[in-house]
Amino acid sequence: MKLSRRTFVAASAALVASRPLHAKTEADVIVIGAGLSGLYAARLLADEGVKVVMVEGRGRLGGRLESYRHLEGAPEAGGDSILGGYGRVRDLADQLGLTVLNHRPRGRLSKTEIALGGSVIPRDQWPDHPLNYMPTESKAAFPGRRFFESVVAANNPLEAFESWADPESKKYDRSVHAFLREQGWSPDTINLNYNTNIGRGTSAHDCSILTWFFRIGWDKVQTDIENVALKVVGGNQTIPERIAVELPGDVHLNKVVSAIHQDAAGVNVICEDGSTFRAKRVINSTPLPPLRWVNFDPLLPAEKAAAINMLPSMKINKVFLTASEPFWDDDGFGPGMWTDTPMGQVAVLRQLENSTAVTGLICRSRGIMAEKLDALGPKAAQALVISEYEKLRPAAKGKLKAVGYKSWAKDRFAGGTWMEWHPGQVHQFQPHLASAAGRIHFCGEHTAQSNRGMEAAAESAERCAFEVLDVL
Ligand SMILES: Cc1cc2nc3c(=O)[nH]c(=O)nc-3n(C[C@H](O)[C@H](O)[C@H](O)COP(=O)(O)OP(=O)(O)OC[C@H]3O[C@@H](n4cnc5c(N)ncnc54)[C@H](O)[C@@H]3O)c2cc1C
Repeated sequence: MKLSRRTFVAASAALVASRPLHAKTEADVIVIGAGLSGLYAARLLADEGVKVVMVEGRGRLGGRLESYRHLEGAPEAGGDSILGGYGRVRDLADQLGLTVLNHRPRGRLSKTEIALGGSVIPRDQWPDHPLNYMPTESKAAFPGRRFFESVVAANNPLEAFESWADPESKKYDRSVHAFLREQGWSPDTINLNYNTNIGRGTSAHDCSILTWFFRIGWDKVQTDIENVALKVVGGNQTIPERIAVELPGDVHLNKVVSAIHQDAAGVNVICEDGSTFRAKRVINSTPLPPLRWVNFDPLLPAEKAAAINMLPSMKINKVFLTASEPFWDDDGFGPGMWTDTPMGQVAVLRQLENSTAVTGLICRSRGIMAEKLDALGPKAAQALVISEYEKLRPAAKGKLKAVGYKSWAKDRFAGGTWMEWHPGQVHQFQPHLASAAGRIHFCGEHTAQSNRGMEAAAESAERCAFEVLDVL
């Protein structure tokens, strides 16, 4: 059954309603999860004549691609930038006839202010400021991730980033903190440049530096190929939505998978509402946290189950703000800020297709700051972010409005933004993430070896689709 985008949700609902609760739907392959990896895997299989049925827990498509279309320019609550080296995703966008826009130059239009210890620090005062714990030779540098990354890049022992999971790289699978101490950084320098607006983990202690060695090498390849940060006009969520429109098989929304049972001839996928789907093979594309609620019979191999249960996920909350007037013209600071508050890092949104006008602000709160917002709940979290902004910038008082909020850790179908690695986990768990368990195959960004983000999701879909084609 082929569904147009317009009729998609309604038709899915009708499909569910018309089917007896315990009826079995038969297919060659069931794909669990209609995010980028699941849909792309389904597309590849369908192209080879395989009968695929998709089962998605949410009432929408796209998973961690979620475009806030109620806001001007459809800014991204989830996956944001398509980088230069994303061969698969860029090709897919082309095949689907989508227009992409390079936002990288717009990101540089506004100056980002440093706000620490309760005030904005004018840039000329930063080198001598008492909260400046930059290394002596770098006092004037902007603190945070870019500075940290420059140090990793200068000391990256991996000649090829793909070798991160090779046995020889095991010696590098230790904490970011240990690595930075070896570079001569004090705990205060680490706190300023790593733990504040943290890139990965919740502190420098619980993140593996090996994953940064991979990341920095991979980033360089992205920019060497083309220095762009592309977004799909109308929102990145359009990619999975368009794939679904072109898919010949059914896509069932609001079907939360709760159990997967295999026997000698096939696999039953059982949903919370009691409906059952049966196929020769299953592809699971869900992230790890929701997979912890799925009952497998027989049980998954012990190492695979341990990987699913133990690997952490990054926490990021996004608060979208609009400003009734450009108050930044009054106080002379740029609207974007890098802060040590639960508001996190504030970036300027310029989302319209043919304009560089400011369409809003986005506050990204990470790690333990995201946990603080989660503890408050959405309403109080948004109020806190606005009050923190107003405290730092009195000129903003009464001019900011929260228009969108997303906690990825609190999203039951994601449980975080992406998979992370504690020190020592790479070589313990990496080999088990992508491995099949009988008739169940696994894709998703966390199972990729040579990419991150959307391109990792697409890489994993290709690997998984070919794996299934080999055994069908
Ligand atoms: C805040 C944020 C920023 C990001 N920024 C970038 C970026 O700039 N560039 C980049 O390349 N990537 C970025 N990413 C990552 C990128 O969005 C993801 O890597 C990619 O979308 C993951 O696709 P996936 O198919 O692996 O997983 P998902 O999109 O999570 O798909 C899995 C699907 O499984 C479904 N599911 C879960 N549990 C069940 C269940 N029990 N039953 C049925 N269905 C279930 C989910 O609802 C979901 O639809 C970002 C992600 C986030 C959250």
